[in-house]
Amino acid sequence: MKVRWEAIPPEGKEISLDELTLISLQGPHGEEEQEIRLDSAVTGSLSLRRTPKGIEATGRIRTAVSLHCARCLKEIVLPIVSEFEEFFILMHYAPREEDKELVKDDMDVSLLPEEGIDLRDIVEEQIWLNIPMKPLCHDRCMGLCSVCGTDLNLGECGCDRRYSDPRFAVLKTLTSNLR
Ligand SMILES: [Zn+2]
Ligand SMILES: [Zn+2]
Repeated sequence: MKVRWEAIPPEGKEISLDELTLISLQGPHGEEEQEIRLDSAVTGSLSLRRTPKGIEATGRIRTAVSLHCARCLKEIVLPIVSEFEEFFILMHYAPREEDKELVKDDMDVSLLPEEGIDLRDIVEEQIWLNIPMKPLCHDRCMGLCSVCGTDLNLGECGCDRRYSDPRFAVLKTLTSNLR
């Protein structure tokens, strides 16, 4: 669903984001992105205000995504709760490089596309912004054994991992140099 600048009445417009479907979490790199899917329906609302220079959007969304722990690869569900403010500036008001500082910097500013702002894009962007680079099942996730692949959260496998990871080899050289 797209909302054009002209379609927003002077008093503003409230839009429910509940049951917004067809949210696609395909990352910028397409299929190769780690598997992330929506675990529960999106709920939320968006309030749009028209100004002479564009559209001010304030909103909140709540949902959950299912993805994999970056260390042990177990599937986890990550709740997403986001409150955001974004300004969509009309093309002819878009600041040139040299007067970027005229734009309030506590607010995200994007160009307002001719066909209007796309609610789905806003929701997808908010979900991405709230997914950490390395999602973990637990702060202290032990990960997988680098030798046999056992999930170390479930118990020690008994492998000697001291020399299998090149990072440990570097540490070992460092510590022996200190002695
Ligand atoms: Zn984990
Ligand atoms: Zn092992």
